[in-house]
Amino acid sequence: MTNKTTMYWEKDADQTALNGKTVAVVGYGSQGRAHAMNLRDSGVDVVVALRKGGKTWTQAENDGFSPKTPEEAAKVADVVCLLCPDMAQAKVYAEAVAPNLKPGSTLMFAHGFNVHYKQIQPDAKTDVVMIAPKGPGALVRRQYEEGRGVPCLVAVFQDATGNAFKTALAYAHAIGGTRAGVIETTFAEETETDLFGEQAVLCGGATELVAAGFQTLVDAGYKPEVAYFECLHELKLIVDLIYEGGFARMHEFVSETAKFGDLTRGPRIVDEHVRAKMKEVLTEIQDGTFAREWIDENKGPRTRYNELLKKDLEQPIEAVGKRMRDNMSWLQESQNAPAKNAQTQTAVEKFAAIKPAPKPAQGQSEHAGGCCGGSATEAKEEAEREPATTASGRFAREIW
Ligand code: NDP
Ligand code: MG
Repeated sequence: MTNKTTMYWEKDADQTALNGKTVAVVGYGSQGRAHAMNLRDSGVDVVVALRKGGKTWTQAENDGFSPKTPEEAAKVADVVCLLCPDMAQAKVYAEAVAPNLKPGSTLMFAHGFNVHYKQIQPDAKTDVVMIAPKGPGALVRRQYEEGRGVPCLVAVFQDATGNAFKTALAYAHAIGGTRAGVIETTFAEETETDLFGEQAVLCGGATELVAAGFQTLVDAGYKPEVAYFECLHELKLIVDLIYEGGFARMHEFVSETAKFGDLTRGPRIVDEHVRAKMKEVLTEIQDGTFAREWIDENKGPRTRYNELLKKDLEQPIEAVGKRMRDNMSWLQESQNAPAKNAQTQTAVEKFAAIKPAPKPAQGQSEHAGGCCGGSATEAKEEAEREPATTASGRFAREIW
């Protein structure tokens, strides 16, 4: 594993590397649809591969593609990008792709799980690469349409032809990734850090922290609605600021009292015990314990997974949250979007900024550069132009 970070941009990609080649995109979900459409708009010959009768087959047709089965697509493709769900990939690869893949083809992934944990072991004649966008498919598509891109990771697992990296970078270029920067990594690093991030911080860690904070306040007799705002709703505002400009940006916006509380109490919450648990979780990822558990779960009807999910969704904070969000008119649009295509932006940015922004420090730019979507700074400007009596405006001033 290398610790030196190399980034690639537009100028580094040889766009001609995909000339005369056919790219099969297997799956037309979050990533598949975005990749297929971006590749096509970049002039690449794309074939969408799907199982017949699936619900996205018609969607692909409506978008102007003529889907083929994975078997048919693999026969004509020079590059096969597996963008169906991770737990479906090994079967699709073994049954449909591997028997039909031309020697010297490229097998591409957007996540390293199956290769890293040896669920897919391509033969020695195949290039095995990864382009992993660091964002959901809808964002990959929207940014591309706006002339921008979503940052990607690139990795080569196996270079049979000597051109594996070049092909991968040309693919990243065609989906817009090199506009935002492509970081070189390995399948091991991408897989292990991705799993750790979602387990310890992004999905597992964040939701447990929110739920525990909420429950602590409710158990102490505070109103669930108030607890919801304090522990969940406002998190979006904080995350937006951290995303735009790190902890420094957040510190600029919150009160001195909030800062002092953060600095003195934060480390007591995420203490040595939590750090030790994080290491434990990382070890289970590194030694394959987590992967085995998840693969085994998928061999059956996923009883444990379904039970845990049900329990998660039955927590009191979910019921309170639903009631609260039903009154948030500015959320209706994003709530009605299909989950897979929901975009990370919109209304909250608007009122994140209603709190007066501190003056930028000397020499500091007013515009924190975010690569994706709008910024809280832009939102502030927009909010300032809006009448202060909008529902979201009132709300925002109350919660801060
Ligand atoms: P989705 O769950 O959105 O994929 C659904 C698509 O796969 C549908 O078109 C579905 O077709 C098709 N599909 C399901 N099973 C099969 C099958 N057996 N054969 C052929 N097609 C099938 O996947 P994602 O886009 O979320 O993930 C794809 C890859 O991208 C994964 O490796 C993931 O880790 C990675 N990734 C995902 C990100 C994300 O934001 N979602 C971010 C970065 C990487 P049907 O209509 O027939 O069900
Ligand atoms: Mg959780």
